[in-house]
Amino acid sequence: MSLFTGMAILEERFETAYFRFNDAAATELRPDLRSLPEKQEFLDRWTGTVRNLASGDAMRLLTTFSRMLPIAGAQNDRANSTAEDESSGDHFLHARLQGSKLGVFDVYYDSMNVESVQAGQLKHAENGETYYDVWTSFAPLGRSTLSSSGPPQVQKPAPAENQITVDHYHIATEVIPPKQIRSTARLECEIHEGGLRALLFELSRYLQIQSVKLNGNAVEFIHNPALEGTQLSRQGNDVVAVILPEPATPGKRIELEFEYTGEVLAEAGPGLLYVGARGTWYPNRGMRMANFDLEFRYPQDWTLVATGKSVAPEPASLNAGQQVSRWTSERPIPVAGFNLGKYREATTRSGGITVETYATQNVEKDFPSAHMQVITPPRTVSEIPRLAEVIVPSHPSPAQNSGSVGESAAEAIQYFSDRFGPFPYSHLALTQIPGRESQGWPGLIFLSSYAFLNDAEREQLHFDVVRNLMQRTIPAHETAHQWWGDLVGWKSYRDQWLSEGLANYCALMMLQEKDPAGFSRVMENYRRGLMQKNNDGVSPMEAGPVTLGTRLLSSHFPGGYEAISYGRGTWLFHMLRTMLKDADGTKPSGKDEPFTRALRQVRQRYEGKAISTEELLAVFAEDLAPELRFEAKNNLDWFLDGWINGTALPKLELKNVKLLAKGNGVVVHGTILQKDAPVDLVTSVPVYAIVPGRQPALLARVMADGEESSFRLTAPARTHRIVIDPYNTILTAVK
Ligand SMILES: [Zn+2]
Repeated sequence: MSLFTGMAILEERFETAYFRFNDAAATELRPDLRSLPEKQEFLDRWTGTVRNLASGDAMRLLTTFSRMLPIAGAQNDRANSTAEDESSGDHFLHARLQGSKLGVFDVYYDSMNVESVQAGQLKHAENGETYYDVWTSFAPLGRSTLSSSGPPQVQKPAPAENQITVDHYHIATEVIPPKQIRSTARLECEIHEGGLRALLFELSRYLQIQSVKLNGNAVEFIHNPALEGTQLSRQGNDVVAVILPEPATPGKRIELEFEYTGEVLAEAGPGLLYVGARGTWYPNRGMRMANFDLEFRYPQDWTLVATGKSVAPEPASLNAGQQVSRWTSERPIPVAGFNLGKYREATTRSGGITVETYATQNVEKDFPSAHMQVITPPRTVSEIPRLAEVIVPSHPSPAQNSGSVGESAAEAIQYFSDRFGPFPYSHLALTQIPGRESQGWPGLIFLSSYAFLNDAEREQLHFDVVRNLMQRTIPAHETAHQWWGDLVGWKSYRDQWLSEGLANYCALMMLQEKDPAGFSRVMENYRRGLMQKNNDGVSPMEAGPVTLGTRLLSSHFPGGYEAISYGRGTWLFHMLRTMLKDADGTKPSGKDEPFTRALRQVRQRYEGKAISTEELLAVFAEDLAPELRFEAKNNLDWFLDGWINGTALPKLELKNVKLLAKGNGVVVHGTILQKDAPVDLVTSVPVYAIVPGRQPALLARVMADGEESSFRLTAPARTHRIVIDPYNTILTAVK
């Protein structure tokens, strides 16, 4: 709130206000309203605005008012009464206010959201992008829809996300390259909330629905644009409401069939397509675990890969020149996708897992041009590319490097399987997509063309050392998502950083083993990235804690999500890993160090489910070493409060250090200073002894609590100096 408004509490005088609600708000407001003499003038002035604003709340209000729809085919058309009944607990209020200082902004109360209070603003940023800046979003104390303790006073509707589950998708798709698809998606659903008449789904705004059927009978639907600037809209999605002919019964199973068509594929170059750049290709309710059965018909000269296992297709009538393939998920997965192109295929293996790489001989049309000198591609990851004599002016060919990309992924599968338990699927496919971003979906990785470059090709593009290192870790990062993000999901937007932070850190653990110096450079780069001030003099670290998730992406901080989720998120896992290792008396290393042991537990307990930040920390806090217990409490709340839910990059210093020889050792007294940090920040600081001619030796981890913390430790004989964190394992400010 203070970041966007300069105030800790929203207090703003407004000149005009627009209210939209679904309950008795009008009755409450009426005593404070006065009648206007010039009614027509008022209507003329505002009708257009109101009409523009109406669509934003339409779907939410439909959820409420559809409950009053007459029941199709019923004898009398008496409305279902729940919506009129105030005790239903379904409350929605949207206030759009014209503030005198802050401009136009919104305040929402929505009982169907877990975080029912929200305030924010649509903002056009200097970079030309439109953002919806969320100023605040929270569940009011004592009224959380999540709390289950105590007798229910008012029966509240379930949060929208829990009203129904879709547990099985059967999607038959005809793909007409380069852009079009024609699909029939059958969704098997279970209803959890009674009385519902409108079910909401997300779908790409580039798709048009022809029909929706409920258990075989046509039903009505509405396809509405998402609110501009919101995360949904940025992803290219709309909202679709399906109207049930009669109120839903809890526990009842239904089947919905959507028929739709549209241009949801993007063509970036010859034979190089990307599904997903234009929103979601099948109707869904966000990332939720479900089984998928996908069938595709497509021209014979194209290769198609999808999530799931390739199985024999059902007998089908095909058009001339068409082929068909079918893919079923091997276990419930949170998302399903496909890609097709004019690929060359490379196959490698990792234990029992097949790794297939699909790349084209082209990069996208807008790929930076470079005159390539490389002719002979490396056959393995470790082999250095050989430079040929001739100079060939051309774009790089991802297909030539697909072998080494596949091997990087295979190597990552081995590394992560050893540590976090077996790879969850029977095979992994990597497919090339245009653009700089990659995505690791269950069993199917969409890999940026840039990740297919070899070192020499990257050199041609003048990538700096760190960027080069990062590009090389991308196959491992996306492979790590097979465990973190795909197999173990995240609970809410506040926990999404777990997926990025963990996948990224796991990829860097591999880098650290092979190239410790390279690892340090990457980590230092993240540290600097967090502190680097933009033109307005603000640095990404100020965008907020990792737990703000996609809210970090805002008009103030267009790069905030990246810097915090990846940069700070990666650092938080490095801090956790290092302190668990230091404090562990048994000092096992490699596969059995405490960090990987805990992650193995996380996988066992949460596979196929979603995990919250608190739940993850609880696993890390099991058998917590005394050194890491703040105020003797057996938990990591201090790390959660100060580091995960905080934004600090403190400066750590030693003061008043005294060394006294005593017996066979040295007694050390001193004070640790924490500067530029919140007064209640707690940090576990490793203190090392310097003995001439030896490596720094860890004495202990000391809890620094606030500004000054004194300590007393015993050090080996001949210790002549002590230092804190010589290996830079704490996310402190740049020295
Ligand atoms: Zn990622």
